[in-house]
Amino acid sequence: MHKHHNTLGLATTHPIAACGNDIANRRPIDPVTLVRPHAAARAARFFVEKFPGKSMYAVKANPSPDLLRILWDNGIVQYDVASIAEVRLVARTLPDAILCFMHPVKAEEAIREAYFTHGVRTFSLDSMEELEKICRATNDATDLTLCVRLRVSSEHSKLSLASKFGVAPHEAKLLLFAARQVADALGICFHVGSQAMTPEAYSNAMERVRAAIVDAAVTVDVIDVGGGFPSSYPGMEPPPLEHYFATIHRAFESLPVSYSAELWAEPGRALCAEYSSILVRVERRRGSELYINDGAYGALFDAAHIGWRFPTMLLREPDSNARDMGFSFYGPTCDDMDHMAGPFMLPADMAVGDYFEIGMLGAYGAAMRTAFNGFGSDETWIVEDEPMTSLYVNDQRKVASNVVTL
Ligand SMILES: *Cc1c(COP(=O)(O)O)cnc(C)c1O
Repeated sequence: MHKHHNTLGLATTHPIAACGNDIANRRPIDPVTLVRPHAAARAARFFVEKFPGKSMYAVKANPSPDLLRILWDNGIVQYDVASIAEVRLVARTLPDAILCFMHPVKAEEAIREAYFTHGVRTFSLDSMEELEKICRATNDATDLTLCVRLRVSSEHSKLSLASKFGVAPHEAKLLLFAARQVADALGICFHVGSQAMTPEAYSNAMERVRAAIVDAAVTVDVIDVGGGFPSSYPGMEPPPLEHYFATIHRAFESLPVSYSAELWAEPGRALCAEYSSILVRVERRRGSELYINDGAYGALFDAAHIGWRFPTMLLREPDSNARDMGFSFYGPTCDDMDHMAGPFMLPADMAVGDYFEIGMLGAYGAAMRTAFNGFGSDETWIVEDEPMTSLYVNDQRKVASNVVTL
């Protein structure tokens, strides 16, 4: 029962100075989302300038309209949407955006509305049934870009996307051939899984693409390498994104595709992870367990369910002198599953009433929040300091020292 969280509107957003005192002095009772527009803008410009093709934002990572406008203002014009609600949201928020409906299994009504009402022309598919659906729903349109989703390995990624979607290699030939008959432009897409920790994930997938093109002997106009671009978390520090881009570019250049073929990517996490963090309060301490006011049903779904570790930082005046130790967290609901194992590093003298920040929650954090058990809050503050880590700032020490002075 995850509600789509589209409510981080400007009305509830208060610009405040980036200052730990200021935050602590406000003593918010509920968790607060801290947003950093400059961090999202920087990520967007990085992809626009350095990815050797078109970058479209995967909206599911964080559908906040404020964020969509920031990405748009910084050059992201194409959006990967996966549900009719996401189609409507982006069409309403950014009327000139190009929408690509990249969920391989769609309701026929959704395809119809996307095509006829919102001008969507790009659709992904991984089966003959879906191809037939798209043809029926668009009244056999002749202006479609159809992207056949190939199944590729998720072995280099922290979150697998390998079993649910994607046509198997031995079935790709027929589907590519059939899609070519009806498509104005034919694409091949894949997803290597989220948080891909090495560029090899993409070169391996591109080898699958090459084999599929050779086998089907079709002309391909778009290669879409999907999402999976990593962000930085404790224990999961990836190589620089430039390495991924270079590997992808090299692989793309050597594919047997049409002379004018385009290269696309669908980054979600990498564009928005640094955009927001949360400010939480300790309500109880039991040894190394902290009971805090946000959790698995809030912005910490991934911390609870897949053991993701996020950076943490105490906001106390004066600061603690105690050495850091590993803590686990309990969220506010009455459910035992509302537990985040961590370990999350915080000073050993953490106490009830302390405020601390949990960083890098812009992707799949805010987007997953619910109001289960009466907890959760839309309170959002804009801050101007740096995120706890960044893939887009060359000097990591600069980021670290900014954090210390927050
Ligand atoms: C989730 C998803 C993305 C974004 O993935 P990230 O790992 O967040 O970059 C891109 N494309 C598709 C089809 C997806 O399902």
